[in-house]
Amino acid sequence: MKSDIKSMLPGELEDYFISIGEQKFRAEQVFSALHKGILTFSEIKTISADLREKLDNEFYISSLKLIEKQVSKTDNTSKYLWQLGDGETVECAVMVYKHGTTLCISTQVGCKMGCIFCASSALGLKRNLTASEMLDQIIFTQQDLTPLKQGGQRIKNIVLMGVGEPLDNFDNVIRFIKIINDQSGIKIGARHITVSTCGMIENIDKLTMYDVQLTLAISLHAPDDDTRTYLMPVNRKGDVKALFDAGKRYFNKTGRRVTYEYAVIENINDSSDQAVSLSNFIKESHGHLNLILLNDIKNSKLKPGSIKSVYRFRDILTKNGVNCTIRRSLGTDIEAACGQLRRRNLHEMD
Ligand code: SAH
Repeated sequence: MKSDIKSMLPGELEDYFISIGEQKFRAEQVFSALHKGILTFSEIKTISADLREKLDNEFYISSLKLIEKQVSKTDNTSKYLWQLGDGETVECAVMVYKHGTTLCISTQVGCKMGCIFCASSALGLKRNLTASEMLDQIIFTQQDLTPLKQGGQRIKNIVLMGVGEPLDNFDNVIRFIKIINDQSGIKIGARHITVSTCGMIENIDKLTMYDVQLTLAISLHAPDDDTRTYLMPVNRKGDVKALFDAGKRYFNKTGRRVTYEYAVIENINDSSDQAVSLSNFIKESHGHLNLILLNDIKNSKLKPGSIKSVYRFRDILTKNGVNCTIRRSLGTDIEAACGQLRRRNLHEMD
């Protein structure tokens, strides 16, 4: 069986070329060609025909096929549903902010974490994505955006906030990050990457040990264990306090402020007491709080709080000295919330 060349680190490619008696600079030539989105080795003109054939016998080049694309009428958000080599699908979303174009990518096909407000949970986990399948979401989405020459924008920031739990696919996610960091590829620095987790404490600590300048986002959604465990089963493995402790360790080691995500859900996590308790946790941990309007999921009993109640909740936090923003809900007309597009597509196929 052929190996997945786009999941290889530059150092691994060098080792391969040395092992077949080639110069190690071939690795950089091939790595950078792969990141331009070539589909066959015959497109790499900087290497000999012999070497192209050798590579073709040994490796395959992963790619994605576009199944569906939606462009929001109300903002610049667009959403892509891509098909992977084995027929599974993943989605990603492009969001245009003042600070640059951001791509939200998926890290798994489905998800096993079971958060009850999330559209991705309903269908369970199919499999992890490889590093190349995460990289391909960037390469092929960038190719589809208006070409740079015609005023299109280069994807500048990557958020691992699509379908899946990045820290449940730890090794591939780290590999992917190292690949996109590299100077000879698409070159996206750690400071432009956000890893969002539902709170797998042991793996947050593993990430802390890597000591890279990523932004860590923790999906919190409740400051008390009863509510959080109800919303997010992962909370049974470690409580809210333990989660904040892990966030603090990340901050102490990397110096990067942790972002806590909090979707306001009517009558579940929007009380004044919860706002006060949340303030204390956030202040104590030097974190940043991102309030989100819950995306309405069809047939769910969980309802978003009204705009008014979100402002009331925010005001209590601000009064208590918490650094807090309300995240604009982009692309609500195109099902840009995690998992919604893939879920509808699967239902349509039933
Ligand atoms: N598994 C990771 C990343 C994927 S989810 C995580 O849990 O962080 C990306 C973000 O969207 C998380 O903050 C998640 O809690 C949030 N989210 C999921 N469903 C949502 C919904 N219906 N409304 C608002 N935010 C939602």
